[in-house]
Parts: sequence; C-alpha cells; structure tokens
Amino acid sequence: MTFSSVGSYHLLITLQEDQDLEYTPCTPMSHQQSKQIICPYCGNFITTVANPIPGLLTWLLCSGLFVFGCFLGCCLLPFCMQSLMDVVHSCPMCRQELFYYRRLGFDL
Ligand SMILES: [Zn+2]
Repeated sequence: MTFSSVGSYHLLITLQEDQDLEYTPCTPMSHQQSKQIICPYCGNFITTVANPIPGLLTWLLCSGLFVFGCFLGCCLLPFCMQSLMDVVHSCPMCRQELFYYRRLGFDL
C-alpha cells in the first residue's frame, strides 16, 4: 500500500472526536449510519455507503425461530430487518470495503 496510513489515521481520530462532541455519549445507531471519512484506498473524502448484510446475530435468530416452529418462512424474518443485520461500510468511489459494524462483537 502506498498511501500514507499514518496521516489518514490521525484524521479519522479527529473526525470521531468531533462526532462525540456533537452527539450524546451513547448513540447505538451511530455505527450503522454512513460516516464521512478519508478513504484509505483512494484518498478521497467520502461518505461511506452502509450496506446491511446477514451477520452472526441474524443467523442465530433465524435458527432460534426455526427451532421454535417458525419454519414456514418466519425464520427468515431477521434477514428482512436491518436492525438485526451487520453493516458493511464501503467507499462509493473505489468500492473498497472499509469497515464492518457487527451486532455481536465476534464472528465465527
Ligand atoms: Zn475509496
């Protein structure tokens, strides 16, 4: 990688600190929403594109509903609810995936 990662990193930290000042300390939805950052891949100042993807929590709920008898399509309900899905943020310019927001703190 040829970009200056150190410079971008400092800029990211600065932006996040500014947002903390604007919002209340606990904003559970903040990671799902698009963020304005410098893309480390193409170097443009961009607003990330947030795409919901099925995550570990989605699959756990799906299998949980299936076990409890919701096997006629109801177990697919978590896949229709964005608030239950992980979110991948990508760059609209170069289409690179920048970071993930996971409902559960780990992945299998
Ligand atoms: Zn980019």
